[in-house]
Amino acid sequence: MAVYIDLAVSLKDKISKDGPISVYDFMQYAMQTNELGYYSSSDNIIGKNGDFITAPEVSQLFGELVGLWCLNLWQLSGSPKKFQLVELGPGNGTMMKDLLRATKHVPDFHKAAKICLVEINRDFIERQRDQIQHHSIEWFNKYEDVPEEFSIIVANEFFDVLPINQYTKRGDKWYVNMIDLHGDKQHLFIDQFEASQNIKEFLAVKYASLPNDSIVEVQDEANLIMSKIATNIVTRGGAALVIDYGYVESRHRSFVSTLQAVKNHKYSPIFEEIGLSDITSHINFTSLYDVAKLYQANVYGPINQSQFLSNMHIDLRKNMLTLQATAEQKREIISGYNRLMSADQMGNLFKVLAITSSCFEPWDVGF
Ligand code: SAH
Repeated sequence: MAVYIDLAVSLKDKISKDGPISVYDFMQYAMQTNELGYYSSSDNIIGKNGDFITAPEVSQLFGELVGLWCLNLWQLSGSPKKFQLVELGPGNGTMMKDLLRATKHVPDFHKAAKICLVEINRDFIERQRDQIQHHSIEWFNKYEDVPEEFSIIVANEFFDVLPINQYTKRGDKWYVNMIDLHGDKQHLFIDQFEASQNIKEFLAVKYASLPNDSIVEVQDEANLIMSKIATNIVTRGGAALVIDYGYVESRHRSFVSTLQAVKNHKYSPIFEEIGLSDITSHINFTSLYDVAKLYQANVYGPINQSQFLSNMHIDLRKNMLTLQATAEQKREIISGYNRLMSADQMGNLFKVLAITSSCFEPWDVGF
């Protein structure tokens, strides 16, 4: 509890002294403040006993199919003798463990792979070390630090933790959302201030037709990492698979805030437990797609997770697993499968985007 009080109190002090801060700075503060931010300090975040559960923790089917995707892309690229198998934000390391198990029948793939994990949380690094044994692993604090080599890159629920900015349209003008403190010096709230000239011009052109009260989210950090991934893939070769919850921009979508906080598997108000709840936003897949294209990569999707997993033959794999399973295991496999695939669970909200250096037929890369 002390952690929460410290972060919230020091944030209020800071705002009362220096004025409001952007949504971006707020997210970065809540998630990454040294020793106190949610992702720099908390352990036991992911899983049934943690705050939220992710696809690799729901079912081994997920990591196994991501593994087959990586193997396929490596073979389609001519089975290079050396390559980097990169995962961004591996959490408990479950997806990498399942991926490696599912591909161990191709020893050359394992021999060629240098595993590079991008992670900021020390407790997670320890867990990853425990889960992924018999492989040499190198850890990096940020993607930019990973050497520029041929890479196959995977990221599940990584991009959604990166900070964003928000802008609101009012009276036909664009304002920037900022975190401010009420006169009582106790309560934080989202306030609007005049946006900078550059942003106002950008939004006025790109989102001219949006009605008042629309909120546009700009994910500069995610876009920057995507630009680096695309550049690396285009210049050095390779592929990337991004899976996350998010949306595709369209005229029919309402532009609202997607900021959310999750604690103990429940949504909680974003200012309630700063540093102790997971604050994220939905990923704008249109924007990731545009950035990867801008840097000349081949881009596939986004498609829904259920569609991607079907294309990767999840039914076949599920049937194989259940053949050898006890009644109890069978129930678990089917309930995991349903959670990954159902439209009202992870099947539709989660989307998949792939980026490659060579141009393939969509069905060759699971799209
Ligand atoms: N991919 C895992 C975990 C998702 S949670 C899964 O699907 O279960 C997000 C992960 O990203 C965690 O491992 C977290 O510690 C890591 N992370 C959060 N912010 C990060 C940052 N700025 N740079 C690198 N890793 C980060």
